[in-house]
Amino acid sequence: MVMSTPALLENYVAGQWVAGASRTSNTSERTALIDPVTGETLAYVSSAGLDLDAAFTFARETAGPALRALSYGERAQRLSQIAATLQTKRDDYYAIATANSGTVATDSAVDIDGAIYTLSTYAKLGAALGDAHTLLDGAAVPLAKDASFAVRHVFRPTPGVALFINAFNFPAWGLWEKAAGALLAGVPVIVKPATSTAWLTQLMVADVVAAGILPPGSLSVICGSAAGLLDRIGPFDVVSFTGSADTAATLRAHPAFTQRSARINVEADSLNSAILLPDAAPGTTAFDQFVREVAREMTVKSGQKCTAIRRAMVSVEHFDAAAAAIAERLAKTVVGNPRNETVKMGSLVSAAQKRAVLDGIAHLQAEAETLYDGNRDAVFVDAGPDSACVAPVLLGLRDGAAGKRVHDTEVFGPVATLVGYRDLDEAVVLAKRGQGSLVVSLYSNDAIAMRAPALALADAHGRVHAVDPSVGKTQTGHGNVMPQSLHGGPGRAGGGEELGGLRALRFYHVRTAVQGPAALVEALTQDAVEFPKS
Ligand code: NAP
Repeated sequence: MVMSTPALLENYVAGQWVAGASRTSNTSERTALIDPVTGETLAYVSSAGLDLDAAFTFARETAGPALRALSYGERAQRLSQIAATLQTKRDDYYAIATANSGTVATDSAVDIDGAIYTLSTYAKLGAALGDAHTLLDGAAVPLAKDASFAVRHVFRPTPGVALFINAFNFPAWGLWEKAAGALLAGVPVIVKPATSTAWLTQLMVADVVAAGILPPGSLSVICGSAAGLLDRIGPFDVVSFTGSADTAATLRAHPAFTQRSARINVEADSLNSAILLPDAAPGTTAFDQFVREVAREMTVKSGQKCTAIRRAMVSVEHFDAAAAAIAERLAKTVVGNPRNETVKMGSLVSAAQKRAVLDGIAHLQAEAETLYDGNRDAVFVDAGPDSACVAPVLLGLRDGAAGKRVHDTEVFGPVATLVGYRDLDEAVVLAKRGQGSLVVSLYSNDAIAMRAPALALADAHGRVHAVDPSVGKTQTGHGNVMPQSLHGGPGRAGGGEELGGLRALRFYHVRTAVQGPAALVEALTQDAVEFPKS
């Protein structure tokens, strides 16, 4: 699949494939996509010169009505066809992930197979909505004493476009976990993948377009600069952003949101925690579960997961035992070129990310001790010093309350800090110093002991993941985002919500109170189903 001569990847807008910079023959407008292990140029992207007005108008006025002419059930069927189409092309996607993201096959699977699983899940959930074209929000409520005049709340798909501005770490899943909900709702999608890994997103869109599954213009892809996209966002469009808090802050200030009231969903940085409860002493199953999960989360996708454990919290008395056990596991991580089968962890996504991660480690080391550093005397398999490989680093802060940086600096790589707490109440306080996170996980030998901290942590987290010995084989993992569960988090994590089964449909709909004669309010139930709760 990897091209012998790097090509300029085309954009798909207004139902047509269009090259960017080649229209102006200005090669300086192209950005190269680089293999982070070899430094080789793989492809180029450019969004220069695209007719963005036409792109948005076509999606809004041609694709949107065609999508919404289908029922929810029919759109669910399209999701199923998309999943089947992607399934047949997995080998191509894995090859691109290896070359462009530097990931080993098991990490590529998190992105690629995670995308296909999410689409399949939404296809099944959406099928239950059948022939409906409207979603109802509760029963009719009389507004007059004789019940002749009433109100019923309905959800209708927003008549705009869903624009996704995505992060580099999930070029496959990042598209489809959002598009599943948007397309099921009947809202056309324009995706702008992060430039550094845009190739996989672009090819998946190309394969789905070629399969003719969706009405023309339902799915567009723009690779390269985001310049001008938000200027086209109108009052009925929605924007989903995944990326850094800094970029999110810039976006939120755009007139699309401040003046035109378009809605934006943000998934941003997060200082996720894992908490080993005081009962889970070394030698117990919960202790081992915690250790395994911390090491796994640090190394899966080289720690480039928004949900990865950044702060691993243990009672001070178990600090040394936990440090030794996690370090022992990390020491087994073979790092290097993902093409070598002995390699368990590939590289970071780019040289820029490597610099950012090394800078971040140094920043944390100003207040945290280094408990394990795989980069000391590191030998990266089949990868030179210029590769974007970074080995795992475990930092430590015995007195967690004394730290500042570890609670507010997200290092987006194979890095975590072991944080000591005095009692469980302090652990809860420390976890909340992340100012709102995507996920916190709890480990105890006693399921019921996790009730109080789970509820105490819920108001600052999008997801609470609790593990005891009884779910050793069945639990889905701290960092795995399951389509059935909400993904997102309050505060620092962006304040967004995605997935959560059919709850995902909410973002792509407008809720309206229809008031009128009882007969009209009753007639609204034709061709409609109650908004599903899961
Ligand atoms: P980023 O620099 O903020 O970029 C994210 C996206 O925004 C990219 O597509 C980027 O395009 C685009 N962008 C950058 N500046 C923009 C602007 N001024 N206007 C419009 N779009 C703009 O973030 P990143 O470094 O790629 O991603 C890593 C971060 O994402 C991490 O901090 C991680 O926590 C977060 N993340 C969160 C989640 C989640 O679900 N909560 C998931 C994954 C990642 P270019 O690539 O072309 O610059």
